[in-house]
Amino acid sequence: MKKVPVYAPLIGAVVNLADVPDMVFADKLVGDGVAIEPFDCHIYAPISGVIKSIHRAKHAISLVSQDEVEILLHIGLETVQLDGSAFNLKVKVGDVVNNGDILGEFDLDLLSKTAKSLISPLLLINQAGYQIEPIVTNKVIVKQVNTLLFNVLIPNTKQTQNQDPMQDLISKDLIASVPIKISNLYGIHARPAALISAEATKHSGEIIIEKSSKLANAKSIIELLGLAVNRGDEVVIYATNQVVVESITSIINQFEDNDTKLPLITPTTRQQIVGTTNGNSYFGAVASHGLAVGRLVVRHSLNFEIIEQATDINHEQTLLLNAINQVTQELQKTIALQDAANQEIKDILATQLVLLADPNLVANALKLIKQQKTAAYAIKRTIDEQLTVLLNTNNQLLIERQADLNDIYKQILLAINGVKPQTLQLNEPTILVAHELTPLDIINLDSNIVGLVSVKGGITSHVAILSRAKQVPLLVGVAESILNLNTTNLAIIDAQSGVLNTLPTEQELDKLAQQIVEDKKRQQVEQQAAKNAAITTDGVEINCLANIASVADAMLVHNCGASGVGLFRTEFMYMDKQVAPDVDKQYQVYAEIAVAIGDYPFIIRTLDAGGEKPISYLPQQHTNNAMLGMRGIRLSLAYKEIFIKQLLAILKLNHPQVKVMLPMVSTIEEYREVKQLIADLAKQQQFANNIELGIMVEVPSVALQADIFAKEVDFFSIGTNDLTQYILAMDRENSEFALQVDHLHPAVLRAINLVASSASKYNRLLSVCGVMASETLAIPILIGLGINNLSMSINSIPANKAFIRRLDFGLCQDVAKHCLNLATATEVREYLQQIFLI
Ligand code: PEP
Ligand code: MG
Repeated sequence: MKKVPVYAPLIGAVVNLADVPDMVFADKLVGDGVAIEPFDCHIYAPISGVIKSIHRAKHAISLVSQDEVEILLHIGLETVQLDGSAFNLKVKVGDVVNNGDILGEFDLDLLSKTAKSLISPLLLINQAGYQIEPIVTNKVIVKQVNTLLFNVLIPNTKQTQNQDPMQDLISKDLIASVPIKISNLYGIHARPAALISAEATKHSGEIIIEKSSKLANAKSIIELLGLAVNRGDEVVIYATNQVVVESITSIINQFEDNDTKLPLITPTTRQQIVGTTNGNSYFGAVASHGLAVGRLVVRHSLNFEIIEQATDINHEQTLLLNAINQVTQELQKTIALQDAANQEIKDILATQLVLLADPNLVANALKLIKQQKTAAYAIKRTIDEQLTVLLNTNNQLLIERQADLNDIYKQILLAINGVKPQTLQLNEPTILVAHELTPLDIINLDSNIVGLVSVKGGITSHVAILSRAKQVPLLVGVAESILNLNTTNLAIIDAQSGVLNTLPTEQELDKLAQQIVEDKKRQQVEQQAAKNAAITTDGVEINCLANIASVADAMLVHNCGASGVGLFRTEFMYMDKQVAPDVDKQYQVYAEIAVAIGDYPFIIRTLDAGGEKPISYLPQQHTNNAMLGMRGIRLSLAYKEIFIKQLLAILKLNHPQVKVMLPMVSTIEEYREVKQLIADLAKQQQFANNIELGIMVEVPSVALQADIFAKEVDFFSIGTNDLTQYILAMDRENSEFALQVDHLHPAVLRAINLVASSASKYNRLLSVCGVMASETLAIPILIGLGINNLSMSINSIPANKAFIRRLDFGLCQDVAKHCLNLATATEVREYLQQIFLI
């Protein structure tokens, strides 16, 4: 058991906490310790450590020791009203002190006249598992500063040191807002956080945002992001006065879903063979669409040696502050230079400014410099910690904001080293390749840059948004070996298929020029033929159906040549609401879609929520692994009232073309339970019960037992997106696995083959509605495995129908058979590309 001694911070008389005339302290709500009634005006450090916080009114100071013992000294009772006027502190947050060092003084006279009491609690706060060993008792007179008041006992096996943040709040005399429910789509992500912290910094005093007892300084954008506030979460604002509480509340209430401007990760992009190479071809994820040809220029990162130990602390402090200042001014200049129409760019730069102004950034870096570290080391460590905060949110959007922090880091580092940002001298069309691109790179993009390629980066990043705004094609996630290329050859960036060709032949170059013209023509031709059947050269008809998510999508179904709807993702009807839609509302939507698609099949998938699609009013049981928890049909069966409404709406529709499809089924019992439920509901409500009930095949258990299911279910539709993630045990949402989560993996093909055999044996309708069915390259395999219903994204239908018309069913069968016996997804892709020349 380790002891940390806590000494008298004041000269005076010891008072037991129980005798302090304030319930909050007497009942030890803030923490355990003792109090002192001072006779003298000097304040001394009770422990050795760092000053952790000083209240705006200067009456409360907390210190934290090396062992993370946190001690709060609260001078007098109800002294917050003095608003600092009675205190003269000589220290600031971040200062390192030894016990007995003078921290400041106060006006004893003024305090005794104005405060409720001079009694000053000295408390151990927020350390679960730590205990107090009292040394002095009531009424003992402390005459010297080095008088030991109590020890803090630290158990050898230190328990988890989760501070109780709510107690911390209580000690701060702040005004709380009512709980505010976050209603915008992405919660408090970068831009809302930037707005809050920009507003918060206009006000002096502490402003705290609390979510589920987790606290964040509203002035620190990183702390705000670290709260990981999602849609549906509740937050409470704490501030020193009501005006501030109201101004922050009104900002939060005004968050809008202009976030929808952020592109969602489209399955097509996610499924590409990102990060692989094939000769001169480098495959990446398409973050901004387009085709271009240009000279290849590889930008190498500047590598500065970062020395840890400083020799002159003052010099390092100046270096850091000047660098931050310089970067801030440059950013402000860049914002001023943007024309009014560039609101998107301005917003992104403004977010960077707020990140730069984060009080924790400077404070933490300065703290490190005080510990004899260089400015470069201090900023690196501070930003690394902030990057970890973002990473720990597990929120892809926030994780991708790391690029903005890295951007800032690089600029500060350049400024510390006195180096001007690298400018490329370009005088002809160029494809720029870099390890990582930053938002500023894109904002300041030379007009000669016609294409961008990066090793790191995501398709929802600011870099991607900006590239799209500038209409410059961008591939991300390309193999790192691209950086070793020592060439300025002409290259082709094909940000449609996701390929960079670093050594195109003359022919390929000519082809590209033509391709751009031809692309347009071809799309027109495909569109004209869209309504013709998709029949292979040897006479097998393939039904191309549409995946839709709304009535608006349904309106496009005919025009794109779809022969019905193979998947209506109903979860979107539930997702942007406060409550589940009622029977009538749903009925109306289903009826409108049925009218729009006419006499074609219409497959309604019941609510597929949970996992990566949480719904605020369906609080799923907490699980560390949402993808294996309450999702799909499991969730619907757990929330039967909501599920029943959906089933009733479908039964009420009683449309001959409507079928019901259950998502994420993993056991036959789930299917039987729903089948029975529908029969019971139909009986009770006197609806006809002739509806076909099918399942999605998304879980390995169903693929393995397809023969068992085939005896009972009316139809199958393979959800290759989920099936791939579960077969390969790789999270489909994790961009780090974008390379491997590939539906063309032979293991996935074998699972599809199992299902296809059973469906055919029992004569069950089978379709594929995962993104695999939209991917042209995958279509021959699916057809070859005997699947003649493909439900795909609306846009891809005309082109895929045209492609199917050129296929030979016999060849598809041979190809499928061959691919089942290959070892890797790459082998499958290469083989398909050779055969079908796409
Ligand atoms: C699938 O998993 O393939 C599928 C179609 O469902 P979703 O992508 O909506 O999970
Ligand atoms: Mg799915």
